[in-house]
Amino acid sequence: MVIIMDGKSLAEEIKREITARSNSMKEEIGTTPTLATILVGDDSASSTYVNGKCRDCEEVGIDFILHELTASIAERELLELIDDLNGNLKVHGIVVQYPLPRHIDRNKIMTSIKPQKDVDGLHPYNVGKLWLGKYDLDGALLPCTPKGILKLLDRYELKLEGKLAVVINRSDLVGKPLSKLFLDRNATVIICHSKTPKLERLARSADVLVSAVGRRPDFVVSEDMVKKGAVVVDVGMNYIGGKLQGDVDFDRVKEKASYITQVPGGIGPMTRAMMLQNVLIAAEIQGGQFE
Ligand code: NAP
Repeated sequence: MVIIMDGKSLAEEIKREITARSNSMKEEIGTTPTLATILVGDDSASSTYVNGKCRDCEEVGIDFILHELTASIAERELLELIDDLNGNLKVHGIVVQYPLPRHIDRNKIMTSIKPQKDVDGLHPYNVGKLWLGKYDLDGALLPCTPKGILKLLDRYELKLEGKLAVVINRSDLVGKPLSKLFLDRNATVIICHSKTPKLERLARSADVLVSAVGRRPDFVVSEDMVKKGAVVVDVGMNYIGGKLQGDVDFDRVKEKASYITQVPGGIGPMTRAMMLQNVLIAAEIQGGQFE
């Protein structure tokens, strides 16, 4: 019998812990964890994500500040705003919602955020700490999706040591950090992408298969790509006819997998919960709690 890994319930549980920690931070040191988010332009998907972040923060007692900027804003002005937020002692986390307009250099923006406030875990300092192994899962600013995946696997006591993990994605946000986290758990990792030959065969060899492609219907993880008894983690988000679907042909693949995540209700809520946890970690780092 397949076990469906319930990211939604675990995320709710984590949010209750975050609420308790955020309340005690307010009571004990008078600090309200605060996330500042910068939204440039009027991309509707970005607005939806930002609204979701706002609701999540409210739910757990994190203050949320939104800076909405026009798409024509100069890069220099955006950098000045980030500089202000870096210096603002009341702001603990900063998120710049991507994508940015083409005239703004994403890398320049990403590296301008103070590493201690980089709750996306994308600043080279935080990326470096991950790749040097100088992190602990609960105290470091790691990218939210990979961290959420690991937390969910841990909840189901799924061991990675000695397993072959195949990750279909090589982005800085998902595939690369996740592969490093898997490697640190002594998995053997294969990273696949759009130019990988014989991807189906590689996927079929996986004990743990993660897909984060988001190109449905061009790319679907079918049951032929899954080994019997594999653990399958679906990160992909595809809106088909207004309905959210993952990369995995869930109904068929669940007949072969031992553990599987669903979309929605799997990695999405875990990612959101990890963002909140990162804000709290950032506030604790800046408040000296972990020093
Ligand atoms: P991305 O940067 O576009 O990465 C997509 C990856 O898929 C790339 O590595 C790409 O390869 C690979 N790919 C594309 N077509 C492929 C194909 N035909 N065969 C094999 N690999 C292929 O996107 P991302 O930001 O990492 O996100 C990926 C997906 O995960 C999206 O659907 C996104 O919405 C979802 N996501 C979900 C959450 C969540 O919370 N659930 C969080 C983050 C992302 P190349 O590198 O060669 O282009």
